[in-house]
Amino acid sequence: MGSDTEQWIRQPIVVVLGHVDHGKTTLLDKIRGTAVAKKEPGEITQHVGASMVPASVLKKVTEPLRKFFPRLTVDIPGILFIDTPGHELFSNLRRRGGSVADLALLVVDVVEGFQKQTYEALNILKEKRVPFVVVANKIDRVEGWVSKPDSSFLESLKSQSQRALAKLDERIYVIVSKLYEQGFEADRFDRVRDFRKTVAVVPVSAKTGEGIPELLALITGLVQQFMKKRLVTKNEPAKGVVLEVKEEPGFGTTVDAVIFDGVLKRGDTIVLAGKNGPIVTKIRALLMPRPLQDMRMHEGAFTLIDQVVAAAGVKISAANLDDALAGSPIYVVPSDEVLGEVVKAVREEVSEIIVRGSGNGVVVKADTLGTLEALTSALKQMNIPVRIADVGPVTQNDVLEASIVGKTAPEYKVVLAFNVKVLPEAKSLAERENVNILYHNVIYQLLEELDKWVKEVRTREKMKELEQLVRPGKIRILPGYVFRRSDPAIVGVEVLGGRIKPGYPLMREDGTEIGVILQIRDKDQVLKEAVVGSSVAISIKGHVMVGRQIDEGDLLYTSIPKDHVNLWLTKYRSELSDDELLVLKEIITIKKKKDPFYGGFYQL
Ligand code: GDP
Repeated sequence: MGSDTEQWIRQPIVVVLGHVDHGKTTLLDKIRGTAVAKKEPGEITQHVGASMVPASVLKKVTEPLRKFFPRLTVDIPGILFIDTPGHELFSNLRRRGGSVADLALLVVDVVEGFQKQTYEALNILKEKRVPFVVVANKIDRVEGWVSKPDSSFLESLKSQSQRALAKLDERIYVIVSKLYEQGFEADRFDRVRDFRKTVAVVPVSAKTGEGIPELLALITGLVQQFMKKRLVTKNEPAKGVVLEVKEEPGFGTTVDAVIFDGVLKRGDTIVLAGKNGPIVTKIRALLMPRPLQDMRMHEGAFTLIDQVVAAAGVKISAANLDDALAGSPIYVVPSDEVLGEVVKAVREEVSEIIVRGSGNGVVVKADTLGTLEALTSALKQMNIPVRIADVGPVTQNDVLEASIVGKTAPEYKVVLAFNVKVLPEAKSLAERENVNILYHNVIYQLLEELDKWVKEVRTREKMKELEQLVRPGKIRILPGYVFRRSDPAIVGVEVLGGRIKPGYPLMREDGTEIGVILQIRDKDQVLKEAVVGSSVAISIKGHVMVGRQIDEGDLLYTSIPKDHVNLWLTKYRSELSDDELLVLKEIITIKKKKDPFYGGFYQL
């Protein structure tokens, strides 16, 4: 690391994803525990927001596997595991067009198999193109399994009954077939021939530790074989990402960062994204957890360091970090001359995520740049446009924007609030303007609620529009049922096809308009509509007299306006019954005689 040209392979950055309760935390705890127990004196395993498994530990843990895999070597300096599992933190590990994570562990409870968040995690990994290994966890719960704590999986296999082995294979096969459905070829890791084509499934028990040696060996092997190029770094200005922005007693606002490239030094000038544009600041202090202490038990127990080398998790203390955004890139400015360029790079990267548009679309507010990006990219897949996407609480202005959208696109009259506050004045404005604010702190639940809402509004709007369209209807004036000859004419009719409703205009068989239905009655009951097969009395408003314009036994049709017929033939065709379609055809034939363009060129 002395000269500027020296290169080295850094530790891969590994994240853990999977369904709730499938054992992500337990797995990370087990790996961390292993690292602490087996490390050499003086080796640091605890980073900020991450845990390091150094090469010395990898070598010791994988040693017993050497009899199965004689060519196993450890050439990487270690593996950096991100401490917090789950979608939200993963979103913040963003990097332009991808992820800071080099590899993911997708934890699946071997007994429960794929669950909702397993699929969600898989989709995120697909989208971000992050390679992954499936951890089939909780093998100790497979029927008949006899645990051999902390042994390798292959060692433990030897002492299992045929029945337990068969049960395990059955469970793994279910996982493999789910992966296949999702477009991935997969197999138990010891049966995989080509790791570039096949996803490896590693059976482990995070509780007993069985399989942990294989998991660490597999990560090491995969990285060494296929990822070395991505992991090359050198003594150059650092690049990283903000995982969290945190208040730290004695240090003010600090950022917890993952450095994935280069070397970060105290005194470096860095650029990162803030709520109001790029922040340029100088690193006052770099902090790491004090060795041999559990961060979570001794919060604030930091030690000051002069520099960190990628890959690392570190806390940065500097001025002006109050507005910093989690999920933001951090770039070190190598010299004053290029400051402008670096600021521009950060601004451009952020402008791909923060949207301040004016078209129809939803308003999205999220707590971090990472979750905002995850939300907008999911909305894109759902085909839901975005008008505003920004970080921060929901303000009056956000509600106002949604209300403007609502005038022309009621289904998008909504503000999505992910893990942010809704300011009181925004809340009251939303009530007055009838703007829907959807709030959630689980991305997928927020999206589900939005989907439900959009569908509901679309159905409502469709019903409203449909309600206003004149439907096809064909009636016959019953002979002997003329109750009143005019002003208005009241006659008994039989509905021969389709339906009639008050307000519908009527025409004769030759296309002559005769008036509008005023009321429909069945004895003393006033009806909202009359459908095919029914006989009712109708009153007709207009200059119409029975015996002149119409007569007993005449056929009448609803006179569907031209713009309505076009909607029936296109958007709402599926809303018509077979019987209504037949009547519509007759109506079009009648209308075409007077207006050849009636019904356009659509065929029924
Ligand atoms: P997370 O929500 O994915 O982080 O899941 P946790 O790590 O909190 O685990 C959920 C539950 O499963 C806890 O009660 C764990 O003790 C249990 N658990 C996790 N791993 C194993 C395992 O390998 N075997 C068994 N039997 N239980 C496990």
